[in-house]
Amino acid sequence: MKQNSAPKTWPELSSACDQISARLQEAADKLGIPLRGGGFVDQSALKNEIAGLKAVYNELKFSPAYERWSENRRKALIKTLFSSPEFVHAAANWEQITPKMRQDTIRQMSLKLQEAYSNKGTLFTPKSVRFRFFEQEAPKEKGAYFERGRAINGLGGWHFTVSLNTHKDAGALDFGRAMNAAFHENLHGVHFALMDYPDRCKELDHHPLKDDMAMLNQAKQIQVEKFSRILALYHSIPWEADAHRQSKLFEREITEALHAHKKTQDVIPPAPH
Ligand SMILES: [Zn+2]
Repeated sequence: MKQNSAPKTWPELSSACDQISARLQEAADKLGIPLRGGGFVDQSALKNEIAGLKAVYNELKFSPAYERWSENRRKALIKTLFSSPEFVHAAANWEQITPKMRQDTIRQMSLKLQEAYSNKGTLFTPKSVRFRFFEQEAPKEKGAYFERGRAINGLGGWHFTVSLNTHKDAGALDFGRAMNAAFHENLHGVHFALMDYPDRCKELDHHPLKDDMAMLNQAKQIQVEKFSRILALYHSIPWEADAHRQSKLFEREITEALHAHKKTQDVIPPAPH
């Protein structure tokens, strides 16, 4: 399928996805390319099927309302975090504090994120988050898969688990990069909550994010994660594209906020006279 002939309606998208997925699987089987398990696969031999599937996934877009809402929530989160002296202390001394303090700060950030994105409960109920921290150095082989973190949806959308790599190779000792990884995985909790909302709640007509909920729900139904070992398709999964884009912005914004905060602390108060 050519990119410019990408299907537009939901039934068209769904059937195009089924057809191309079957072709991709068949081509991979013929070539003996495994599409399951860890690590990314060589995609060059499958490029027509990948381009076709990418065109389908790219039709699954977040709405301008979601873009405005998430920018607003990100900024509200940073403001809340910097109102906590413990958070500011940890942020300013990130490399020197203990691993336990870094983990506690990430937990604190995660709870505040879930609160900020629930919009005081008007959009959805924040999910309860479980954490698993692991330490793994980067693999030596070039191009090998390296896990910085993972988010797993569970119990029908009511819980999710965040796993984060605390090794320095994963950027865990760099405040901005650690916040990037934690934000990325926690944002998936928001995606999961939105994605599962139509299954739990019937009244969606007036919801400001109803189009995004429907889109995420549809993306789940067509199993956009099925070929996530193919890097180009992984980056076309709507919630991965969103998490990568927003976590980069969050890293920049929170680092700037920290620099701005440090500057105000550096100012020596004028001597009393
Ligand atoms: Zn992700």
